Amino acid sequence: MHMSAVGAFSLSEMSSPVEIVDQMVNQAVRLNASDILIEPQEKQAVVRLRVDGVLQTFGEMPLGSYDQVMSRIKVLGNMDVAESRKPQESKIRFSSDGHPYVLRAAIVSTNFGQMAALRVLDSPKFTEFTQLGMSEAVIDKIKRNISGRYGLFLVCGPTGAGKTTTVHTCLKHLNNGEVNIMTIEDPVEYIMDGLNQIEVGEDVGLDFVSGLRTVLRMNPDVVFVGEIRDAATARIAIQAALTGHLVISTLHSRNSVGALFRLLDLGVDRYILNYALRAIVSQRLMRKICSHCKEIYQPTESERMFYRREKGDLPGQLTAGRGCDLCAHNKFQGMAGIYEMLEMDEVLRKMVLSEADEAGFKAELDSREFEDLNSAGLRLVDDGTTSLHEYIRTLYDAG
Ligand SMILES: [Zn+2]
Repeated sequence: MHMSAVGAFSLSEMSSPVEIVDQMVNQAVRLNASDILIEPQEKQAVVRLRVDGVLQTFGEMPLGSYDQVMSRIKVLGNMDVAESRKPQESKIRFSSDGHPYVLRAAIVSTNFGQMAALRVLDSPKFTEFTQLGMSEAVIDKIKRNISGRYGLFLVCGPTGAGKTTTVHTCLKHLNNGEVNIMTIEDPVEYIMDGLNQIEVGEDVGLDFVSGLRTVLRMNPDVVFVGEIRDAATARIAIQAALTGHLVISTLHSRNSVGALFRLLDLGVDRYILNYALRAIVSQRLMRKICSHCKEIYQPTESERMFYRREKGDLPGQLTAGRGCDLCAHNKFQGMAGIYEMLEMDEVLRKMVLSEADEAGFKAELDSREFEDLNSAGLRLVDDGTTSLHEYIRTLYDAG
């Protein structure tokens, strides 16, 4: 298998499963990894860390040590150590350098043995809008749209686009002690003081719909519903938004206009949608080129053609990372957010009612010099923050 040369080492050199797990978790925290995967293969087990959205190999170990490591994880999570066939889930609390973290652990049986996935939950790293890489114009629009006391505010994008960070930045902005902010999350990803956070899940017998019904009896001003996944959640979220609550939620969709159509597909009435919906922000996270090995190059013919299809004109020079020790030869270091902000207004509401199609909305927005995700992404390609390949990966390959 492919090994990223730096950092991968044989975990069997370490003496105990306790130390192996500690090493793994501390390294994940150091690298700011979102997930740790422990995967059994035919002859050994591999540990991989997801850093900036991409997996990299951390180390490998013989199957003997791996069995002990799995037992250690089960003990930490109060799971059944003897159970090796049924899936198990649990939360593990730990601290690294005095900072508290929660690991959400899931174990499932695969053809070579049990695989573990550990999601690293942290308190939010960014809680100011200016830290999210948003323009002042986008920040102003978001603040304006979440300052009201009713209506629906949506944050959209695929998994790993940074939606949760944006939502928690909004909640922090609203968290002034004068409002009751309640969240319904699956799972709670960040812990924040002053919020009443509720986790839904089969184990507690709550889903988004029953959770939202419960929360609405708790006198909230602001409600964050983790995700609108189905018609029932969409319906009750919109009802809540129309009855004196600011409702913030997320939706899987390619862009803001796509989110609008997704709500209609979920059976939301056009009139009601127009009353409830305030604004939709769509976003992606792109990896930033490592500043230590960044270099300018002349684009290839196919890059020139692709760029012209996207933007209408040809690129000048492009930028990419060469790979160096400081970025562990990843060529990238850190992430930059790109955003598009769609505020509903009279013209757009009329288009909703007259059943305009997606192309109609796109034409209307183009006529306003609306900065969509593609334009925002190309801006980062042009200024050398990211590469054209990363742009393609983020906006086309990753859904
Ligand atoms: Zn580098």
